[in-house]
Amino acid sequence: MAIRTYSDDPILGIDLGTTNSCAAIIDEAGKVQLIPYKDGSFTIPSVYAVNDRGIELIGQEAKRQWQLNPRNTIYAAKRLIGRSSTDEVVTAMKDTVAYRMMADDNGDDDVIIECADRYCRPADVSAQILNKIRTVASDYLQKPIHRAVVTVPAYFNDRQRQTVKDAGLQIDLDIVRIINEPTSAALAYGLNKSFNGNVLVYDMGGGTFDVSVIEVREGNVFEVKATGGDIFLGGLDFDNALIRSVLCDFVEKHAIDLAEDPVAMQRIRDMAERVKIDLSSRDSAMFNIPFVALDASGMPLNIELNLTRDWLNELVSPLIDHSLEIVERVLTDSGLRPNEIDEVLLIGGQTRMPLIQERIVKMFGRQPSKGINPDEAVAIGAALYGQTLESDSPVKLQLLDVIPMGIGIERADGRMQVIFPRNSATPNAKAMTATTSRNNQETLCMRIYQGESPTAQENELLGEFLFSGISPAPAGKAQVELTFHINIEGILSMSALDLSSGKRMETSVKIKGS
Ligand code: AMP
Repeated sequence: MAIRTYSDDPILGIDLGTTNSCAAIIDEAGKVQLIPYKDGSFTIPSVYAVNDRGIELIGQEAKRQWQLNPRNTIYAAKRLIGRSSTDEVVTAMKDTVAYRMMADDNGDDDVIIECADRYCRPADVSAQILNKIRTVASDYLQKPIHRAVVTVPAYFNDRQRQTVKDAGLQIDLDIVRIINEPTSAALAYGLNKSFNGNVLVYDMGGGTFDVSVIEVREGNVFEVKATGGDIFLGGLDFDNALIRSVLCDFVEKHAIDLAEDPVAMQRIRDMAERVKIDLSSRDSAMFNIPFVALDASGMPLNIELNLTRDWLNELVSPLIDHSLEIVERVLTDSGLRPNEIDEVLLIGGQTRMPLIQERIVKMFGRQPSKGINPDEAVAIGAALYGQTLESDSPVKLQLLDVIPMGIGIERADGRMQVIFPRNSATPNAKAMTATTSRNNQETLCMRIYQGESPTAQENELLGEFLFSGISPAPAGKAQVELTFHINIEGILSMSALDLSSGKRMETSVKIKGS
């Protein structure tokens, strides 16, 4: 029997994660239904592969064969979204993944991934994963899915958000709204409950870390006070620390660098994650990989290590320290002290690590909330949010979010003129007046950046906006009013008005961006 959903054309809530994705929907009774995948699991691995017969595999099928086919198995593509090939994140990833990345020849220098005999952009991989999630949901609900709310890390910039929207367009999935992952988790926790207070969401999944402070008021009012994060900090980095240590040990014992062997590396990667997860529930675990290499005389070599939780804790504590520094900054930005936080929500699989929980308890002097599932809360919040967007929704929501990093323009001296400082509320709009520097100048060009550096070019270039149609006038006389709009999704758009003619000017983007 088909599941009856709240609407005939339901909005699917999708948590598009770095390592795993999850989806949910609201049923006719207003209850959340998580979409089951395989073996009763509610998460779908965010993995895409092409096998040696040229067949595309997505989800569990792709993950199952990645030890044998590491070069053509793409995981963690979310970390590459909206990045150029020279980005330091891309350079760092080249050392940890077996698939190949290079510059796209589209003139933007965006990163593309080589997979079997084809090249795909990170947005293409995300589109395939979104499509798989939609198919699984559609089969389960027995109705087509055309619309979705998709969550993104709060620390995603404008370009990355826009790329996720484009991924939806590619597969004809209308992403009706993008919402920040921690905000979504807070909705799962507090929507339709009589909770009043400040919630801190510590969200560490497979690839990204976010923290948000959200004031929740009765009547479904959610106001994000501040947000921060690191889109290159997550469970994968814990795995990488463990992998590096195992590789060093092997070099010391056998003078062989396994990093050169993609199949061995994939086996090590699998085992590293398994041992890390085991050490969340046990004091010690065996790291065993038989026949990982051959010695000079052709004899097989094994990895056999007994690892302890204390050892892992010491190894990864710099990563946790870094996350807590970000928490402190976000608390300062929100103007709150730890004892003014009424509830701490731990989201993302990596927060199952006992050391993370201990450090949070120490910082806040309270246990984190037990009323929320770290793997499912984000998708549930997205589904609830989707329901509130329907015109006939019985649930009304007032949501104010913020932008994670400042947005501004490049001044003539190369410095960043901040238009919206970080943590500015969304939606938002600001206007400024600009003028021309040459007689009869017809166009104005402006480079817009997002980031916290005072030097514009050290930030992320969102786009080079071109405004054309200025009425002829001597230099410095034309008056153009530029308006910067940020929508509720944290996405920027621009408009311009020629004040002397009162005419709206044409706006186009020369480089990437919205
Ligand atoms: P998510 O993106 O929320 O699914 O989080 C996935 C990350 O959580 C992966 O890096 C997993 O290795 C990690 N993870 C899942 N369960 C545990 C656990 N029990 N202990 C530590 N890390 C875990």
